[in-house]
Amino acid sequence: MGSRAAKRRRYHESQHLKGASNGTEKTGVILVHGFMVYECKDCGDKWNMYLEKGVEDFGDNHKPSPFIIRCRCGGCAQDVSSIIELGDFMPLGGNMSYFANRATSNCGVPVLR
Ligand SMILES: [Zn+2]
Repeated sequence: MGSRAAKRRRYHESQHLKGASNGTEKTGVILVHGFMVYECKDCGDKWNMYLEKGVEDFGDNHKPSPFIIRCRCGGCAQDVSSIIELGDFMPLGGNMSYFANRATSNCGVPVLR
C-alpha cells in the first residue's frame, strides 16, 4: 500500500527537478496571473486567453505563449492586446480558455473551452 504512494511521490519529485513544477499537481487549482485577448481573423471571434503561472511570467522558468493560435473555427487567431496583468494570481475558472504550463512543452499550450 505504501509503496504505490512512494512511487507517485518520486515521480512528482523528478518532475520538480526538471523545473516543470507548475503548482497544479499539488493543489489541483490552476493559477493564472494575466491574460491576452485573441481575435480570429477568419470568424471574428474574440476571447481571453489566460496565462497559467510560469507562462509569460517573470519567474525563472518563464515560457512564452504563441502569438498565433488555432481558433475553434479552424482559422487563425492572434494576440491583439498584449499581456494584461491581473496584479495577483487567481484561480482559473472551469470555462476559461488559457495557456497551460505543461512539462512536455517549452511554450504555453493553448486550451480552448
Ligand atoms: Zn475563428
